[in-house]
Amino acid sequence: MKPDTIICPSYNCKPGSQLLGIRQDNGIVAILPQPLPVDEQFIETTKHHEMPVQQRFRFTNKCISTGCGQWNGTGCGVVENVMQYIDQIPDIAGELHPCGIRSQCRWYLQRKSDACKICPYVLYQVTEEDVLEMQKT
Ligand code: SF4
Repeated sequence: MKPDTIICPSYNCKPGSQLLGIRQDNGIVAILPQPLPVDEQFIETTKHHEMPVQQRFRFTNKCISTGCGQWNGTGCGVVENVMQYIDQIPDIAGELHPCGIRSQCRWYLQRKSDACKICPYVLYQVTEEDVLEMQKT
């Protein structure tokens, strides 16, 4: 796959990004079957909420690889870091949930189905404590 076609599944909220997931009441992110466009009106509407927009939604955009602070030299460091929790994530029986960016997703390309298993537990700027807390719900 050409590097410039790979997509980041945890980008920040800005024009040009797309909405990938919505945090549910239990803190787990529901990944949309197809991402939705993010426009100025969405950004304006959501920024007035008491909880930061990136803790309520997940966004996707082009992976900028070496231009990103999370790049670890060979891949995305975010998905590698959260892999330490993979054994604590409930097993998914059957097929993976639908995801419109899977064929181009940086995390999936690195970690295949394990990435999709842990993906709904990841929020942009989430802390490790948050991940552990979500396991209790
Ligand atoms: S890790 Fe899996 S579920 Fe998450 S965005 Fe990538 S392909 Fe979709």
